[in-house]
Amino acid sequence: MYEEQPSRLPVQTFTWCQWHEGYTATGLMVGAIEQGSGPGMSVYACAPCRQEHDLRPWSETGL
Ligand SMILES: [Zn+2]
Repeated sequence: MYEEQPSRLPVQTFTWCQWHEGYTATGLMVGAIEQGSGPGMSVYACAPCRQEHDLRPWSETGL
C-alpha cells in the first residue's frame, strides 16, 4: 500500500512545562537547571505559566 506523504510535516514542537508539569506547544526556554554532573537541563514554561509566574523567556533576558 502506498500512502502519499505530505511534502512538509507540520512542525509542532512540544516541550515539557516544568511549572504545571505537562506538555505544551507554547513552551519557551526560561532557564536551565544546574545538575551535579553533565550539562544543565533546559527548563521550559508554557505561555499561561509564564504569565502566572512572571517568567521571561531565556532569549529575552540576555546572557
Ligand atoms: Zn505550564
